[in-house]
Amino acid sequence: MSVIRKGFSSVNITFLGTASAQPSSTRNHSALALRLSGDVWLIDCGEATQHQIQRCGVKMGKIEKIFITHTHGDHIFGLLPLLASRLNGAGGTADGVDDPRVHAPKNLDSVLEIYGPLGTRAYVRNGLTYSHTLLAAPYVVHELRSPSDPVDGDHTSLPRHPMESPNGHNILQINGIWNNIYHDDVVSVAAAPILHSVPCIGYVITEAPVPGKMDPHKYIPDLKRTKTPMSVMSCLQQGESVELSDGTVLHGPARRPGRKLVVLGDTHDPSPIAEIAASPDLLVHEATNAYLPGLDENTKIGDTFEIVEARAKSRGHSTPQMAGAFANRIGARKLVLNHFSARYAGNDDVSEEAKTIMTAIAGLAGKEFKGDIVCARDFMSIDIDFQYPAK
Ligand SMILES: [Zn+2]
Ligand SMILES: [Zn+2]
Repeated sequence: MSVIRKGFSSVNITFLGTASAQPSSTRNHSALALRLSGDVWLIDCGEATQHQIQRCGVKMGKIEKIFITHTHGDHIFGLLPLLASRLNGAGGTADGVDDPRVHAPKNLDSVLEIYGPLGTRAYVRNGLTYSHTLLAAPYVVHELRSPSDPVDGDHTSLPRHPMESPNGHNILQINGIWNNIYHDDVVSVAAAPILHSVPCIGYVITEAPVPGKMDPHKYIPDLKRTKTPMSVMSCLQQGESVELSDGTVLHGPARRPGRKLVVLGDTHDPSPIAEIAASPDLLVHEATNAYLPGLDENTKIGDTFEIVEARAKSRGHSTPQMAGAFANRIGARKLVLNHFSARYAGNDDVSEEAKTIMTAIAGLAGKEFKGDIVCARDFMSIDIDFQYPAK
């Protein structure tokens, strides 16, 4: 009999940092925690991400996977200190007492998984090695290699860190995407390149279809009449069909699509991910720069929307309108904007001035997208519900 797959009891994202190039007193560098039931996956890990984790309900010890969109510092500078904390790291001993963490364990199977572009493995390995960081548990780095990248090798001549698993894959693109870089019974992850000033990746996280709403009373008379064990109910709940001894065929309720999230890194054009990102329940898209004359005191004299958009694009970034247009293009249900310029304060929950600005930014995205639009702030937490609730 098949195992019952119910999907996640909850899917939630919590923004740990929503700043672009420079952090501010109200916005930390980029990171978000995706909570799938009890498990935690991080997407990006900017400076001081572990400090942000300590200030909210995200549990460090539950982090199982970390997905890096690109190796710009504002997305990766927090990775090494976070690994040291998550994996019980230390700097060794000075009194000659042997630290067991110096030695590689025989079993490197149970590992914290890190996914990222070329250079992620070298960055982690070199950083841990040069900082003499010992770890008490293993990690592995899988790199999503682009066609212009070497297909193998580690991009560094340093030997593996004692706690680096040798099982890190170099995952090559097929037809322009990295399909199924991770999957289990409940969830799968695909990725694709998005255009930025350096190689950058967007991630698509898709929950497997979940059982439909089951009405047991609909089936009980037939099961009783044919003396069929009630245990077949679990097959029906999975959406399967069951043939009874008298030839009657019972059909379980149709499965519902699982939840789908698309989280993009920095980008001025995410077109290459559009196809696999279609119809998400939630899209996280950057909106670094906006044209807000009269509201933004840093608006340059002579600026126009076109000039601001051209400037954002030239730096590999987007305006709210560009984010809205992409959300509309892929048919997203909800758009969350993040990665804001330091000039846009992130305390819009308590500051009227900040609220006015962020409302205006959402309004710009709303010119292109008619779905729900939210401007992320640090520690904002969003539950993702099913598009098709059980009836
Ligand atoms: Zn950035
Ligand atoms: Zn960047």
